[in-house]
Amino acid sequence: MAQIGAIQALAARSVSKVRVLLTAALLCLAAPPPVTAQTPVQTASVASARVMPEATRIAAARLGDHGDKTRFVLELTRDAPFTILAEATGVAVEMEAALDAALPPAKGLVRAVSVRPGVRAGHLRLVLTTTGPVRVLLAEVIPPRDGMPPRFVMDLAAGQSGSGTGGFSVLTPASASTLKPPVPKEKPKPPLPMIVIDPGHGGQDPGAIAVGGAFEKDITLAMAKELRRQLLATGRYRVALTRDRDVFIPLRDRPALARTKGADLFISLHADSITSRQVRGLSIYTLSEKASDREAEMLAQRENQSDAIVGMDLSVQSADIASILIGMSQRDTLNQSRRFASLLLKSLDPSIAVLPGPLRSAGFAVLTAPDVPAVLVEMGYLSHSQDAKLLGSDAHRKRMAGSLLRAVDGYFGR
Ligand SMILES: [Zn+2]
Repeated sequence: MAQIGAIQALAARSVSKVRVLLTAALLCLAAPPPVTAQTPVQTASVASARVMPEATRIAAARLGDHGDKTRFVLELTRDAPFTILAEATGVAVEMEAALDAALPPAKGLVRAVSVRPGVRAGHLRLVLTTTGPVRVLLAEVIPPRDGMPPRFVMDLAAGQSGSGTGGFSVLTPASASTLKPPVPKEKPKPPLPMIVIDPGHGGQDPGAIAVGGAFEKDITLAMAKELRRQLLATGRYRVALTRDRDVFIPLRDRPALARTKGADLFISLHADSITSRQVRGLSIYTLSEKASDREAEMLAQRENQSDAIVGMDLSVQSADIASILIGMSQRDTLNQSRRFASLLLKSLDPSIAVLPGPLRSAGFAVLTAPDVPAVLVEMGYLSHSQDAKLLGSDAHRKRMAGSLLRAVDGYFGR
């Protein structure tokens, strides 16, 4: 722990403009030389250097690929405190030492090792450029034993930083000339609910075409953006869109994105078209293996065809949905989806026309994230002239998004 003290003392001298890029739980087992009481802000290495004038030398440097981790080892002539730094391109070790060894070639997660002067006089910085984001699993100096010299050892694993617990981080941007202590731990607040909005169709898949010529893909995108605007304006939610421009997204990537984003709710927006031009109104769908009715079944078939337009096989097997539904019932996902669907129906602006029996279910491919409550909203029929006109209007879009916001608020108990 004295090692941590030394690094924090060093860090306490720092000033500004430093980003924390990496949270690594570090085990520091080395026993550093004592820090004198007169120089409380000095690092142990600086203090000890006065007592022991010979500098630490790095006699050998090597990388080892151990499959799930990459190990970086420095053989030292004697113990030396070190600092781990996040670099834009990887991670660095800063140490008061002189380099006598050749730098090792690329191995494992490390694409290159380079050296440059450290932030402070007499220090050097060994920069490990990595193949992608890495986590520091361990960094320590192993004391000499069995005739082996002291060794600095650092283990890297692939992955984002930020999941460390109880550790500290001393981190600078690549060009920083200062060091900074770890950001004081705040009480972790539960993150705001994440709403993923899925504007149906896009790119080569226009979706339904309105009587006036408008495309479903544009109507859904405009609605998704308005809903995002209204949700974010409350400050109560985080929002992600499966697409925010006119681009094709395969059906399965949509629920996959909801899971990646850690969605608490998934709302897929559509506007259907059918041959009967008299039918109008909004309807809301949840996932089921067997469709609630013939119309819902036909609708799910139409919506699930999206990928076929670009020549992908995306048939959703009934067996797939059956097994997903089992997972959903274990997680209560389906009940939550239905709860949101009925809240939405109650929250609708009175001006919005509703299809008879508006709460329905069918095997929609976009609703298959097993742990994310999800609904598909058919906002109206583009084959109906009045619905088509309304869905293209700003005022109606605001009312529709407002209705969805009320339902989201109700769902999260706001
Ligand atoms: Zn659609």
